[in-house]
Amino acid sequence: MFKAYERTLGAIYGASLRGTVFQAKARHYQDSLAMAQSGENIPRAVYTTLVQEANAGLPTLHRYFKLRSQMLGLKDAGYSDIYVPLAAPAGSYTQAEAEQMTLTALAKPLGADYVSKLAAGFKGQWMHSTPQRGKRSGAYMNGSAYDVHPFLLMSFTGDYESVTTLAHEWGHAMHTVYTARAQPFETSEYATFIAEIPSTANELLLADYMVANAKSKQEKIFALSQELEGLRGTFFRQAMFAEFELAAHQKVENGEAVSGETLSNLYLDLLKRYHGDAQGVVKIDDIYGVEWAYIPHFYNDFYVYQYATCVSAAAYFAEKLGQGDAAARERYFTLLQAGGSDEPYKLVKAAGVDLASPEPYRALVRRMNRVIDELEALNAQK
Ligand SMILES: [Zn+2]
Repeated sequence: MFKAYERTLGAIYGASLRGTVFQAKARHYQDSLAMAQSGENIPRAVYTTLVQEANAGLPTLHRYFKLRSQMLGLKDAGYSDIYVPLAAPAGSYTQAEAEQMTLTALAKPLGADYVSKLAAGFKGQWMHSTPQRGKRSGAYMNGSAYDVHPFLLMSFTGDYESVTTLAHEWGHAMHTVYTARAQPFETSEYATFIAEIPSTANELLLADYMVANAKSKQEKIFALSQELEGLRGTFFRQAMFAEFELAAHQKVENGEAVSGETLSNLYLDLLKRYHGDAQGVVKIDDIYGVEWAYIPHFYNDFYVYQYATCVSAAAYFAEKLGQGDAAARERYFTLLQAGGSDEPYKLVKAAGVDLASPEPYRALVRRMNRVIDELEALNAQK
């Protein structure tokens, strides 16, 4: 059954790859990656450095998986075990509580102006949050009504994920508010390359707040493990996707035939390497090689790597903002106000983060190690 599925999806994605590669050749780009990055003039080194540093950081990811196995009492961890939560959530939250938590968590790092604008947004009914029949899933912020205010949509269910989603989406909304105030309409749209920085920075700041203010050991374990899951999913998983996409395009560029099976073999190799299969960290069964076929983002060539670059920049800012670094805060607000006034790579670089250099990715891996240290110490306590 799954072989037929693999064959069909291989034909569809293969056709998509050949289409992209053809266009890149016809338009005389160096290759399909160069074509994808040309619109916003993002240096190739951003992509290649991300992949290189994610690989260099794999011992940290494996360290996290090993700690999970230890805490869950697993001898042979499999791929599905990485989704088992390490602790039960502390309880549920009302939306008013989630808004208050977000305001409190952001007050010190981002300051009074940000928090008063955010509070005004909360009061202004900009968001539809009630779950209801027929409503689309997911969470979105739409900032295209330039003269009005952002509109948000999510389904607030009261779990911790709802709280982080709220902080995330309002990070987008505040980015839009700051940009719209500073930029004329023409340059008021910011690039995807920047868009996920303020939203994930809010998530990380909320995580720091939750860890620092946990009322019990269980609550702290929960907050730390939520943060680790976020970093795994936004950094390592997206970097793995990025590596897969580049290799798949390169196969076509080298004139190799691409079928569902060759894509699954390629994906399986990456899955094994990222999860430490050979080192006995997480055992990856061959059937998971077909997971690539479930990722709709691959039809938007060279897109997902931006989640990983954005969370790396966000980790840099969250650290500096948390330390009360006034110069970094000023540069951060300059970025929030910059919209689409220049090339996105340049804007982020001017704010202090060179995403073509290894440093931001190393900072993210350091953050992950710090969180693992804390979780490990907590787990060792009796
Ligand atoms: Zn987002």
